[in-house]
Amino acid sequence: MDIEIIEMTEKKISFVLKDSTPAMANALRRTLLTDIPKMAIDKVEFHLGPIMVDGREYESITPLFDEIIAHRLGMVPIPTDLQLFSPQNECSCGGEGCPSCTIMYSLNKIGPCTVLSGDLIPLGSPDYKVKDEFIPIVELADGQAVLIYTIATMGTAKTHVKWQAANGAGYKYAANISIDKDRCKHCMKCLSECPKGVFSGDAKMSKVTRPRECTLCLSCERFCEPKAISVTQDDKNFIFKFETDGSMSAETVLKKAMSLLNDRAKAFGKMVENL
Ligand SMILES: [Zn+2]
Repeated sequence: MDIEIIEMTEKKISFVLKDSTPAMANALRRTLLTDIPKMAIDKVEFHLGPIMVDGREYESITPLFDEIIAHRLGMVPIPTDLQLFSPQNECSCGGEGCPSCTIMYSLNKIGPCTVLSGDLIPLGSPDYKVKDEFIPIVELADGQAVLIYTIATMGTAKTHVKWQAANGAGYKYAANISIDKDRCKHCMKCLSECPKGVFSGDAKMSKVTRPRECTLCLSCERFCEPKAISVTQDDKNFIFKFETDGSMSAETVLKKAMSLLNDRAKAFGKMVENL
């Protein structure tokens, strides 16, 4: 099994999973979606009662229910260092909460304003400042204010979607496309009918130039008059793509997924050996 990167940015990746099997491709997809640990806000404490700022009294009230604000804060992508953090129940602190398993933030705003994710101030290292700063949380009117303390902990999407690092994880089978040059009458139908622009060429020759774009719709096969084109799905190579919520890079998430799969395969192997 091997991986060839087609395109990679900080938050997005597409790659070919080579020499693999449909079961492994699906295992990787499921691992990406549900098993990658990340930090997310899990506890939110709202200050109740008046808030004094510069001698003026503000009311601790917003147009939204506290639960909605807490949910919105939970969905804000929190920068996650997988080397540094561990789940709270596995931490050396015994689950009490320490800098290795929790990140604390404060949110202190007075109206009128729109409270944004960037208003979350980490209590500790500035490295944990939220990168996606413009996610709206709540609109405050004049005289309204919020004073909130939150705790982010590590979890996985098996518990709640706020701990889901990878989104839109999916794959397709690669395509084996061949053109029988002896039968091809250069009708160019493959060029005009393929919705993905897989073919290129002229009146003398058609070529497969972008096979990874093929979605196996078989339009080329259907419209090719002398039936010179053959398309089959390649069940050893898979074209994957996913993006992250920004809490980690796409590269980190992919490496973590591969190492989780590797660890599980080894553990399963040991269990079989011990039977
Ligand atoms: Zn701890």
